[in-house]
Amino acid sequence: MFSSLPRRVSVYEVSPRDGLQNEKNVVSLEAKVDLVRALAGAGLAKIEATSFVAKDWIPQLADADELVPRLASLEKDGSPTFTALVPNLRGLERAKAAGLREIAFFMSASETHNHKNTNKSIADSLAVFAELVPVAKSAGIRVRAYLSTLWGCPYEGAVDPHRALEIAVELRDVGAYRISLGDTIGCGTPAQTDAILRLFSSRIPVDLLAMHMHDTRGTALANVLVGLENGVTELDAAVGGLGGCPYAPGAAGNLATEDLVYMLHGMGIETGIDLEKLISAASLAEKIVGRSLPGKVHQAGADILRRAAVRPGPQT
Ligand code: MG
Repeated sequence: MFSSLPRRVSVYEVSPRDGLQNEKNVVSLEAKVDLVRALAGAGLAKIEATSFVAKDWIPQLADADELVPRLASLEKDGSPTFTALVPNLRGLERAKAAGLREIAFFMSASETHNHKNTNKSIADSLAVFAELVPVAKSAGIRVRAYLSTLWGCPYEGAVDPHRALEIAVELRDVGAYRISLGDTIGCGTPAQTDAILRLFSSRIPVDLLAMHMHDTRGTALANVLVGLENGVTELDAAVGGLGGCPYAPGAAGNLATEDLVYMLHGMGIETGIDLEKLISAASLAEKIVGRSLPGKVHQAGADILRRAAVRPGPQT
């Protein structure tokens, strides 16, 4: 039925950063540690824990300098890897001081969103990236890059994928080890996703690409399936579907990690994640933010996973 699917996929968990930054209430340091502990316990191997932006820019994540050192004790045999958003050299210094070995840089494929999100033009963001990467690398820190609004911009509408590809090529050439392509407002549909991935993989090896899909209009998993068929093997998600984008009006909901993992396991694709523990982590996330979260699989509950008839397992 499917031409080619990966045997194994890496899930890059963004809820502590991309989720909590959008919450009205500031979550306590202890609750953040509890959430990350639950995610690590469920087997997530890559967790974006926070953001080293200016403290008054995102008050929800102002405790980054204290949080990251607290997470070190959750690491066993080098897993999970913790990472954080870093917008500039000052942020890099803070990430380094906190002990991170990996950071993420973010920019948009549309000028207006990039300006609202980072207060810079695309050219200026690329210049900052070029300044940041050599300093990070010399400190032994890997850099992942986000390219947001690729499927559509809340301010400009359609985004030119050819222009976006030029940005991605520059991010790769400067030294991003992976580029996470973002449907920031969750507007993408499968044929568009296929066109974007075919275009991008004509210039950038597909194993350097990840996908960061939002489920705003219910199309995230359909787009992920197209990504898998195109050879993408790293997918961003947030437990419970926490988060959206504060600078993208109408955007709500990262793809829920448990929804993603349910589908992957059901198709026989390994993730190394314990789905029942992940569902418990989603319940904990709801408790922490004090509201119900949109992820579907945790709402359906874990009971059905124990029934043989519907147990997700290898495709035979
Ligand atoms: Mg997101």
